[in-house]
Amino acid sequence: MQRWQAFDQAFGSQPHLVCYAVKTNSNLAVLQTLAKLGAGFDIVSGGELARVLRAGGDPGKVVFSGVGKTESEMRFALHMGIKCFNIESEAELYRLEAIAQELATPAAISIRVNPDVDPKTHAYISTGLKENKFGVSFEQALPLYRYAFASEHLVVHGIDCHIGSQLLSLAPLEEAAKRVIDFQAKLTNEGIGLHHIDMGGGLGIDYQPQDNAPTPEAYVKALCAAINQPEIEILIEPGRSIIGNNGILVTKVEYLKNNQDKQFMIVDAAMNDLIRPALYDAWQDIVEVTQIPEAKTNNVDVVGPVCETGDFLGKTRNLAAQPGDYLAILSAGAYGFVMSSNYNTRPRAAEIMVDGADKHYCVRARETLDDLMRGETLITD
Ligand SMILES: *Cc1c(COP(=O)(O)O)cnc(C)c1O
Repeated sequence: MQRWQAFDQAFGSQPHLVCYAVKTNSNLAVLQTLAKLGAGFDIVSGGELARVLRAGGDPGKVVFSGVGKTESEMRFALHMGIKCFNIESEAELYRLEAIAQELATPAAISIRVNPDVDPKTHAYISTGLKENKFGVSFEQALPLYRYAFASEHLVVHGIDCHIGSQLLSLAPLEEAAKRVIDFQAKLTNEGIGLHHIDMGGGLGIDYQPQDNAPTPEAYVKALCAAINQPEIEILIEPGRSIIGNNGILVTKVEYLKNNQDKQFMIVDAAMNDLIRPALYDAWQDIVEVTQIPEAKTNNVDVVGPVCETGDFLGKTRNLAAQPGDYLAILSAGAYGFVMSSNYNTRPRAAEIMVDGADKHYCVRARETLDDLMRGETLITD
């Protein structure tokens, strides 16, 4: 959890809150470890709020993002006293106002703006362009701020954005910050002051050495410089950059198979355990758990048992593992387990937290077939 501390410490005397993006890896023990350090949390559902609370997180440090907040999620979050609702549409603002009135509890809000900068990342994880479903344009945001400012049930707290994920350059983030503070000046002119600026998450990690991701220090320094307001509270919502390189997926080799020119290493993990390669064509390093002296096999595709051609974990790798050997798929701490499913009736893996060289904890038991069928019924008439 040194990565969370690196973000936190880089702010120096600037008021700030580092809100870990829970969706990245929401295991209770991960949340608990961060909560103990004083982390804030960025949630996208009532379920994630329930996890944060169970893990001992402070609801007063929670911001709630997402385009589809339901009424019951809003009631729950307002009742628990979260720090801020990150509003993504006009309709959502009105819904929150009605709920705040019903509960006689004013709701703190921020409007998620869409700065329309290209983060130069994968299309599926770029969120700050005009054509994305997230946030509202600056033009749309202005009347929403006026409305919220005038409402007795809403309290204007901040502004937020999140332009994309796995960003390997700081320039788009600096450009987004510049556009946000230009807009903030317009609000100030109308007498609408902000308590915080939330620049979202998105800092990338090294999946391979040439990715050369900026450090948390460089990222925070760049944001503080671009915002250049030593008094204002700056929020960030990093997820992947805190947890991504802290996790591996361990899998056993079941079979080796040759199809004419193609060699396959069939392992017992699959796209249901780690979907990033299949979904985003993401590259994650795969290494042998025990070093193998034999020459590596060139061009082997590491595939799972799921009945989909897209079920691969890595293509054209150099590996010498044999059936029974273990492989580690690296950088699997973010968007790994949380995106897993039971497709093909495959129980999901156990989660183990390792602390230093000599301590480890099983923080999630391996699923059983009974777990998978719980809640299903046979028809008896
Ligand atoms: C996904 C998400 C994040 C975290 O993104 P990372 O790229 O993992 O840092 C932060 N904020 C919001 C609103 C998100 O949707």
